[in-house]
Amino acid sequence: MFADLGLDAGLLPGARAAAESFGCRITPEALGAAAHDPADPVLRQFLPAAAELEDAAGFVVDPVGDLAAARTPGLLQKYAGRALLIATAACAVHCRYCFRRHFPYGEQTAARDDWQAAVDHVAAAPDLREVVLSGGDPLMLADPRLAELWERLAAVPHVVRLRLHTRMPTVVPERVTPALLALLRRPRFATSVVLHVNHAAELTPGAVAAARALRGTGVALLNQSVLLRGVNDDAGALGALSEALFAAGVVPYYLHLLDPVAGAAHFAVDEATGRTLIARLREQLPGYLVPRLVRETAGRPAKTALAC
Ligand SMILES: *Cc1c(COP(=O)(O)O)cnc(C)c1O
Ligand code: SF4
Repeated sequence: MFADLGLDAGLLPGARAAAESFGCRITPEALGAAAHDPADPVLRQFLPAAAELEDAAGFVVDPVGDLAAARTPGLLQKYAGRALLIATAACAVHCRYCFRRHFPYGEQTAARDDWQAAVDHVAAAPDLREVVLSGGDPLMLADPRLAELWERLAAVPHVVRLRLHTRMPTVVPERVTPALLALLRRPRFATSVVLHVNHAAELTPGAVAAARALRGTGVALLNQSVLLRGVNDDAGALGALSEALFAAGVVPYYLHLLDPVAGAAHFAVDEATGRTLIARLREQLPGYLVPRLVRETAGRPAKTALAC
C-alpha cells in the first residue's frame, strides 16, 4: 500500500505495526480523492500511522459503552425509541479514528443466523419506533441480504422508521445500485440514510452522483462527520464541507467530537475549539448548514449537544 501510494515506508515508522492491529483499507474512489501525501486530509483518515501505537490517558478500547448497551448480540440500545443493529462487521475503508476499531464483532454481529434474535427483540419492544442499520457498514451486505433484513424488520408493525448509517456511497459509489435504490423507494418505512463525509474533497463526481441518486428515492439524506485534527479542524474546511454536501443534496446532521478510542488520540480536537469553529460557521452559513456539535458519553440518554 505505501509503495502504491509512492510513499516511502521509511518515512512512516511504525505505520506497518499500526496496520497489524487494525488493517489498512481504502478504496480507489477515496484514494483518487487524496493527494499522495500523509498530511492530505483525505489520506490521513485511512493511512496507518505510528502515533496509533502510543498510549494516551483516557483513550480506551470501548469509549462509548457499546458493550453495556447490547440487548442481544448485535443489537445496541442506548436511547429511547431507537436501536442500532450491527448488520455486518465489514467496512470498505478502515477509518483510523473509528470508535469501533476494537469492537468484538465476532460476538456482536447480528449475522445472518442471528438477525432473527435481534429482530425478535425489536418485535418484543413496542417502544422501538426506529431501527438504525450500522456496523461495520450495512451496505457491505449484498442487495438480496439487505432486502431480507429489510423484510424481516418490515414485518414488525411498530417499526416505522429505518435508518442506514453508511460510508459506502462516497467511498464505493457503484454500491448505489438500481436494486438498492428500489429498496429505498419502498414506502413501508420513513427512511433516512446518514452518510459519513469529513472533508469536501471526498465528494468526488462519483460520490456526488451516488448521493443525488439516493436523494432521488425520497429518503432523508443526512451526513455525520467527526471533528478530526489535520482533516477538518478549521472553519474554512468545515464550511466548504457543508456547502459541498448541500450541493449534492445532503444536509449536515452531526459533527461528533472524537470518541476517545485507543489509537486515535492524535486526531483529537478539544471541545473549546469545536465550539469556536461552530460559532465561525454560524457567521458564514445559513443555520441549516451548521451541523450540531455533539459528544457521546456512555450512560447519557442522548448524544450531548455542545453547540448548534
Ligand atoms: C448515535 C446512536 C444512535 C442515533 O442517535 P440519534 O441522536 O438518534 O442520531 C442510536 N443508537 C445508538 C446506540 C447510537 O450510538
Ligand atoms: S466506515 Fe464507520 S464503522 Fe467503518 S471504519 Fe469507518 S468509522 Fe468505523
